[in-house]
Amino acid sequence: MSVRVRFAPSPTGTLHVGSARTALFNWLFAKHEGGTFILRIEDTDQKRSNPVYLQDINESLAFLGISADEGPYFQSQRQAIYKDHVDRLIAAGKARLQDGGVVFPVPPQQVTFADLLHGDITVDTTLFESLVLLKSDGTPTYNFACVVDDALMKITHIIRGDDHIANTPKQILLYQAMGFSLPVFAHIPLIVGADRARLSKRQGATSVAEYRAAGYLGEAFFNYLALLGWSPGGNREFVPPAEIVQLFDLTKVKKAAAFFDQRKLDWLNSQYLKQLPVPTLADLLAQRLQAKGLLSQAVDRAWLERIAALLQDRLKVLEDIEEEHNFFFQEPLVYQEKAVEKFLRQDGMGPRLLELKERLSRLADFETAAIEQAVRGMVAEQHLEAKDLIHPARVAVTGRAVSPPLFEVMSILGKEKVISRLDYAATVLAKG
Ligand code: GLU
Repeated sequence: MSVRVRFAPSPTGTLHVGSARTALFNWLFAKHEGGTFILRIEDTDQKRSNPVYLQDINESLAFLGISADEGPYFQSQRQAIYKDHVDRLIAAGKARLQDGGVVFPVPPQQVTFADLLHGDITVDTTLFESLVLLKSDGTPTYNFACVVDDALMKITHIIRGDDHIANTPKQILLYQAMGFSLPVFAHIPLIVGADRARLSKRQGATSVAEYRAAGYLGEAFFNYLALLGWSPGGNREFVPPAEIVQLFDLTKVKKAAAFFDQRKLDWLNSQYLKQLPVPTLADLLAQRLQAKGLLSQAVDRAWLERIAALLQDRLKVLEDIEEEHNFFFQEPLVYQEKAVEKFLRQDGMGPRLLELKERLSRLADFETAAIEQAVRGMVAEQHLEAKDLIHPARVAVTGRAVSPPLFEVMSILGKEKVISRLDYAATVLAKG
């Protein structure tokens, strides 16, 4: 029997990292087994469901590079099916009308199921209250709609978060009452934050959309999520998606909660960034900067690729470019006050920067090596230490105390900008 799994999000909020990992494990299992991955939108709660969140689900899955082989099915369009199954349960004397809705009195018994990850789980249903199947407004409850759909959609394996373990015995009773055969259940561990509590807003970003907006790469995020609770062995961390599909083994998913390690994600992302062809990275940076209005549409490709090549080993996430390397695009430049104070407010700094400006303006060829030669020539002639010219020049040209190698930065910025920034720093910011 071929594997059929489903991801069944409710479109009531932005897709949580934990839900994305559930989707990913389902998808990985399906792909590894040559099975079918089904998307089902659990939108019976019309008040809380919102098309904006449906779009967010689609965008987040697309970001991860996973797509449904079947569906999406919408529970809101399947009311007649739920009603039909309720009628049959009533006719069989297994469910009854109550307070305008329909309930299922739970037969007292032991329910045992073999969870693929947790082993046998036994629950005594004696203390269970009746299960509501249909609410008084006619909409089905989660447990009921879920069982009807999973059975009719012929789902073979239900892979979902540990937080649903308590629902499973109730769902099993409904499978039995309706004469459906049981799927395999695998409850995967929750993702926890640094405080070991379920990952929440307090620890930072929790939705896939936030990571996407920050400029994490889909492949890096995929790699990171797949290794949250599962491991390919051999202490490997960097495992490209295609290889993960080959290696993924659902039975090896760990039972313990998975710790969301932001630093590891950042490291992985930087590894993926390093592997991109420079033109691809330039494209990603251009899209990002243009969307933020920091770069015009008519951008010089060669120029942008020089920036991409320079930053490739320095970016953790794409958004670093706006925060740490905005001096390439920003006009006027924003200066770090501390850096100005420390490196430019020194006696004689104004004349020193003007001298550098003079020397650089005489260069016919504004290439990195020529700039370096001019700077080092001035250092030697004036008996300076290199740092006493390079650090102030860096602040003048980038506004920052730390930047990528200065001569290359200057060359990329171009003569005109470098000259005007040195002039401004010398006459406005520095001490005479
Ligand atoms: N809509 C449910 C949720 O988002 C689905 C749970 C399940 O996979 O059964 O939690």
